[in-house]
Amino acid sequence: MLMSGATLLKETGPREVFCGLTSIVWLHRRMPDAFFLVVGSRTCAHLIQSAAGVMIFAEPRFGTAILEERDLAGLADAHEELDRVVKNLLRRRPEIRTLFLVGSCPSEVIKIDLSRAAERLNAELKGQVTVLNYSGSGIETTFTQGEDGALKALVPLMPSSEEEKLLLVGTLANAVEDRLITIFKRLGIKNIESFPPRKSTELPSIGCNTKVLLTQPYLTNTARELKDRGAEVIKAPFPLGVEGSRLWIKAAAKSFGIQDSLVSSTLEPLISRARKALKPYVEKLSGKKLFLLPESQLEIPLARFLHMECGMELIEIGTPYLNRDMMSPELELIPDKTRIVEGQHVEKQLDRVREQQPDLVVCGMGLANPLEAEGISTKWSIEMVFSPIHGIDQASDLAELFSRPLHRQNVLTQKQLSQI
Ligand code: SF4
Repeated sequence: MLMSGATLLKETGPREVFCGLTSIVWLHRRMPDAFFLVVGSRTCAHLIQSAAGVMIFAEPRFGTAILEERDLAGLADAHEELDRVVKNLLRRRPEIRTLFLVGSCPSEVIKIDLSRAAERLNAELKGQVTVLNYSGSGIETTFTQGEDGALKALVPLMPSSEEEKLLLVGTLANAVEDRLITIFKRLGIKNIESFPPRKSTELPSIGCNTKVLLTQPYLTNTARELKDRGAEVIKAPFPLGVEGSRLWIKAAAKSFGIQDSLVSSTLEPLISRARKALKPYVEKLSGKKLFLLPESQLEIPLARFLHMECGMELIEIGTPYLNRDMMSPELELIPDKTRIVEGQHVEKQLDRVREQQPDLVVCGMGLANPLEAEGISTKWSIEMVFSPIHGIDQASDLAELFSRPLHRQNVLTQKQLSQI
């Protein structure tokens, strides 16, 4: 049992989630001067091309160095092959300032020490490009953990400073981030920076007067590294929904000694507008049964929003990992006896879904089709990382994402009934 009274269970077994390579899709949009070179197989190339291909308008800012058994067998050293690919890339794309070597899971790739490769290339290419590495392997990561790995790799490059600042950590849509920064400025916080920055070379400085406010719940390792650099990590629920965002802003304001009354008067107009916009969705979602399968680590904050503000009934919350300390402000808001399952045994979870017959299941793309075929409405969890859902203003858009599949199901049922 957790402090909150929710029931925590652990489950291991077959998993059905995207790997950490997926996060390249939003990271390369965030830092257009960075390049993500996946050291992987053709499967990895397919994954990231099909996940990201539709969003690339200019020349892609990621690529794949395909190293397969066949290639390696004839090579004296896989490092030589990697160096060749990197140098070719930099000749073609001299504007690249930060190059991430992203590891994957084929056994041939696991044998390559990418941190040594990054070190060697850094020494050779000093002044031209910074080379970093992290793993996006499906064995080690789920899709949002790719961002955690990339940010963790950047932390050692952040300069030190003692200046007091608020550091927003985690990738957000630029427009959403701008709106949140405007709110903090109105509250009197002047020095606000973001990590990752919009330019990979403009890393914010960090030190004992940096107050870190996480925008995403999947940045456990990054938060730990930032703490090790002296920063204070502010404990708060995550900025999803009106309440989560209000408490998130309030926690940051408190750590800067800003009075609650100023926070309330600043947020009040936004909150009443957002509640009004939320109302039609609450009518659709209220009383509906929700089951969240583990994938993005956003499941607990989403469940809290959908229950607290939209009246949904929580059947089960699955999460791939649970950082109890980071998640404690969220867990306190989850109703007693809610089942929270960390990890995954996909078959057992699907059995429970079938048994409980929820109105809506939040799950990975691979599970959505079979469930839909059984007449169970689904929502892809991956949509949450591609949609601007953070902040008070976005609460109704977030609720809309969940009411859409229920509406579609309604229309289908009515059509079927009319044909009888
Ligand atoms: Fe590549 Fe492994 Fe991801 Fe498959 S799961 S795409 S092999 S990193």
